[in-house]
Amino acid sequence: MLKPNPRYRELKDSYLFNTIYRKTSEYLEKNPEKQVLRMGVGDVSLPLCDAVIEALHRAVDDQSAAATFHGYMPECGDAALRKAIAGYYAQMGAAVSEQEIFISSGACDDLGDILELFDQENMVMVVEPAYPEYVDTNILAGRKIIHLSSGIENDFLPLPSAQAKADILYLCSPNNPTGAVYNRSQLQAWVDFANEIGAVILFDAAYEIFIEEPDIPHSIYTLRGADRCAIEICSLSKTAGFTGTRLGYTVVPQNLIRGGMHLHEMWSRNRETRTNGVSYILQKGALAVFTPEGQQQIQKNLRVYKENAACFMKALDAAGIWYCGGKNSPYLWMKCPDGMSGWTFFDYLLQKIQVVGIPGDGFGDCGKGYFRFSTFGNPEETREAADRLCKLLAKE
Ligand code: PLP
Repeated sequence: MLKPNPRYRELKDSYLFNTIYRKTSEYLEKNPEKQVLRMGVGDVSLPLCDAVIEALHRAVDDQSAAATFHGYMPECGDAALRKAIAGYYAQMGAAVSEQEIFISSGACDDLGDILELFDQENMVMVVEPAYPEYVDTNILAGRKIIHLSSGIENDFLPLPSAQAKADILYLCSPNNPTGAVYNRSQLQAWVDFANEIGAVILFDAAYEIFIEEPDIPHSIYTLRGADRCAIEICSLSKTAGFTGTRLGYTVVPQNLIRGGMHLHEMWSRNRETRTNGVSYILQKGALAVFTPEGQQQIQKNLRVYKENAACFMKALDAAGIWYCGGKNSPYLWMKCPDGMSGWTFFDYLLQKIQVVGIPGDGFGDCGKGYFRFSTFGNPEETREAADRLCKLLAKE
């Protein structure tokens, strides 16, 4: 008799987002005249930049004529795109070769698939609060998980310790949900730790482009020894508005060897088995992101999100509320005022000012009592939300 994977029963249901949706809909049913401002979602609001749109149109036309038509693409990605991304890494000061870059349909896909490189017996360490995918994919694979808590005491940036000892270490910087970022020496400590204990770091760099300060590494490969212990997963979703278009990239260094096996070769082999490559059209669109005009245009969009972040930071600063993120990150992670729980603060904001964010509870137990705002919203709505928040918190 067929046995389904019983570990699906261990996954938490989508309680967080379902409850946010239900509470917001119920409020609107009772108060149809009110304008609810949704400042929680991590999806972008600005369209793709012109350089990408033009490249996509040209690529569609290519597919209409036999002379320019493309069928299956290489499983590991188009050579020109891999080369362009290697150039992007070189600009950051990271020596990553074209062969080490694997084009994906987005970070989410690879965060799941990459686990096929590791035995089920491996122990996993997740820094919490965490992006839920790290936990869920490992629950499904049946791995044991160490939940490494973080908090105000370490600015949500825990450093290596005996409790963090595991085979697979998840790090995300700039972090979702906290917006916290590791500086160079802190990240170097994790790299040294991983090399010392023979672990592999899965470094999620989905928000690297939001980094502004010089001492914050954009890529883990700017650190000594990272090519011997780290896999970096990146995405154009937030960098260039590809959430609905879908394209990412993963770096598996050639020097990454564990148990006598070359993880780079294993990942190449995995790609040959698990995918027939990313669409020609999308890879052409992605290539445009790495042209000088593409880079200039995406920076223009990023400035809009940065201005959104500045509005929220101003409101929280004025109220003297503890928060992190916003500066090198599109997320702000605030402590709920007056000891409120995340859900109490959610209800309070909805009832009083019709602003919706995300209670920190959804990202692990140590997220309780915190609240996440996203700065990916429409600028007018964000300004209005920050204004309402500022007035509400000033009255307290
Ligand atoms: N990693 C983090 C930390 C994220 O926040 C997200 C999306 O929100 C992803 C990965 C997934 O990105 P993608 O859209 O490329 O699948």
